[in-house]
Amino acid sequence: QQEELRCIGCGSVIQTTDQQGLGYTPQSALERGLASGELYCQRCFRLRHYNEIAPVALTDDDFLKLLNQIRDAQALIVYVVDIFDFNGSLIPGLHRFVGDNPVLLVGNKEDLLPRSLRRSKLTDWLRQQANQAGIRPVGTTLVSAKKNHQIEALLDQIEQLRGDRDVYVVGVTNVGKSTLINQIIKQRTGVQDLITTSRFPGTTLDKIEIPLDDGHQLVDTPGIIHQEQMAHVLPAEDLRLVAPQKEIKPKTYQLNDQQTIFLGGLGRFDYLKGPRAGIVAYFDNNLPLHRTKLANADQFYDRHIGELLTPPRTDQLAQLPPLVRYEFKTTVKSDLVFEGLGWITVPKGVTVAVWAPKGVAVLLRPAMI
Ligand code: GDP
Repeated sequence: QQEELRCIGCGSVIQTTDQQGLGYTPQSALERGLASGELYCQRCFRLRHYNEIAPVALTDDDFLKLLNQIRDAQALIVYVVDIFDFNGSLIPGLHRFVGDNPVLLVGNKEDLLPRSLRRSKLTDWLRQQANQAGIRPVGTTLVSAKKNHQIEALLDQIEQLRGDRDVYVVGVTNVGKSTLINQIIKQRTGVQDLITTSRFPGTTLDKIEIPLDDGHQLVDTPGIIHQEQMAHVLPAEDLRLVAPQKEIKPKTYQLNDQQTIFLGGLGRFDYLKGPRAGIVAYFDNNLPLHRTKLANADQFYDRHIGELLTPPRTDQLAQLPPLVRYEFKTTVKSDLVFEGLGWITVPKGVTVAVWAPKGVAVLLRPAMI
């Protein structure tokens, strides 16, 4: 008998005899865990490796079958978006495949936005953005899966809204769906063998099922890959820039026209026309921004890309697609979004140019903040 060995994940006393009980660990895993100094019970071990069992690659054909099955199901659709990258979180055609099923919109990563920003205002903004995309959610909620903010409230809301239905959780990759599901599972301790995987019939896609109290399931669907995210052109070492982990500290600049701001070497903002104005940049705190004169900007880029203007580094330059220029004129206070990387807020009545790597979407939207 092992006395008082505890799981470093949940604190349960480790035991090797009762497979359904708390703290169960197979004998072989116990030995491995002791040897490595990281002893987890089987459930926590699975939680930790959840990301690895969640499938990612989808073929279009499989994907369509999956969507059809969701449309034909009687389900509450929990649609997880990343509020730091709302546009990159949109699932094309979602409103078509949900059919008559209600949608609960969950804005994750609320911890990234400044504390000072009223959450009710943010929720309104999120709802408006969803409406514009053709989605009419029955509820809109902000959470932080990572910080465990509002997860309990979300679970209550899901219980209320689902009635007598299954729950399907959908989202594109990187919105934090796995982190959210892990939190949900953690809140539901004591349930035996929490995770089961099975296939969506007729596809090669795994779904992960979490039993609910009344015999229904919470189903985690495979993450859907969004093509135009900055993540696709970033060197692997720099992916942290598109999944910030800390509250964003906005950077404010008083700009005259004919001034430029570089976002490392990944993007560029030119203030072309308008009065002296305050503009605010919302990017990961580790992305170095540089201001220069527009007249010098091309030269500045050529001279400093890979060094002062980084990422990318010099040895990664070949991987980065060339920057493409887009011009915008604002009629209201607006955000210029570099999809996945962040945004710059500008006042109304200005003309700007925005540059992003080819293949990365750039767009103008009414200001979030
Ligand atoms: P998935 O692809 O949708 O399953 O996303 P993951 O759960 O793997 O998370 C993607 C990235 O977002 C990881 O770097 C997470 O640490 C991060 N992340 C997830 N949830 C949150 C959150 O609530 N806040 C913040 N700041 N980051 C989060």
